Amino acid sequence: MAAPSCGHVFLLTEVAALKSMHKTTNDFVNSYNANRFAFTREQIQSKITEITDLTRDYLNASGVRYEEKGTMYGSYPYSAFYLHGEVGGSRISRFLKGVEAKPSYKAETIKVMLDPVYKLRQSAAAHYQPETKTVHVGPETFTYMKLGVSTALRHELKHAFESAKISRGEMTLARFTFRGSAKSDDAYAAFMRLDELDTYIRDLRQLTNPGKIKQINQDLKDSGYSSADMEYFATFRKGTIENSKSILNNIILKSHEALTLAKQQMQAKLPTVIDGKSRPTFVSDGRDNSKYSSVEINLDNLVSGSDQVKIQTENIKAIDWALLKIAEVQKELESLQR
Ligand SMILES: [Zn+2]
Repeated sequence: MAAPSCGHVFLLTEVAALKSMHKTTNDFVNSYNANRFAFTREQIQSKITEITDLTRDYLNASGVRYEEKGTMYGSYPYSAFYLHGEVGGSRISRFLKGVEAKPSYKAETIKVMLDPVYKLRQSAAAHYQPETKTVHVGPETFTYMKLGVSTALRHELKHAFESAKISRGEMTLARFTFRGSAKSDDAYAAFMRLDELDTYIRDLRQLTNPGKIKQINQDLKDSGYSSADMEYFATFRKGTIENSKSILNNIILKSHEALTLAKQQMQAKLPTVIDGKSRPTFVSDGRDNSKYSSVEINLDNLVSGSDQVKIQTENIKAIDWALLKIAEVQKELESLQR
């Protein structure tokens, strides 16, 4: 009789470790956020330590290498983990290895940090901090990635790569920042960088690619999930896809409108330039919650000096480039909707 393959045993351990990490973290975060005064100092410290230990167990079981860094949540010490991929590890570990192999990743020294108590700090699943070039993720990011229901880590890494283009003097949608009404219920209504087009269309490509889904389903089957579980994950994935599509449609509509207006204003008069940077262009008075009120274009490492005509020309060139990109993404989105 053949012995079970190492890979299979390894994956089952990974799933058990992932489940413990996910459940313990979620239970604590939910009850702590509901009523933090129900916990004593000792209970909080002991939970944070337990979650950190379970996170370490998960990383060990999934073959992700890490460096631990002592940190604090308020006055509670614990460890955060800087992650590195490994060739023979789990799907997640191999994914990280592939990202690290990209020349721009090394050149930009982008870091991925897993914070066991991320959810006590943030409502999102993950985020990218340009100042420190660090993608911050919480434990649930790995659950969702394993289940193939969301691609938060991939999404934030794309933001990191797009931001890096600014320092290299390349054109990128990350150069465009939109601001609008915080009163609107839309996601990204108050603040939006246009590279969300790159990240969301990429998420959709991943989540709708039949080959990738087949691979994820095989991985889940090998990991011991039942067909009922997998049906639930498929429904979850469908929800993520529909949500991403609606966010993209909305961004396309609003950014196209705002950029068209910004271009008209830019052509009508020279931009106000302070310290080599042009001021944001106001495209709406802010009373209409369905529109962006301002557009700001970051021309760092593209133009230097305060020559208004030169900056006007570069701004218009940048807008034309962005409008083409918007049209490309819209076309791809329409093909996905068919
Ligand atoms: Zn994003």
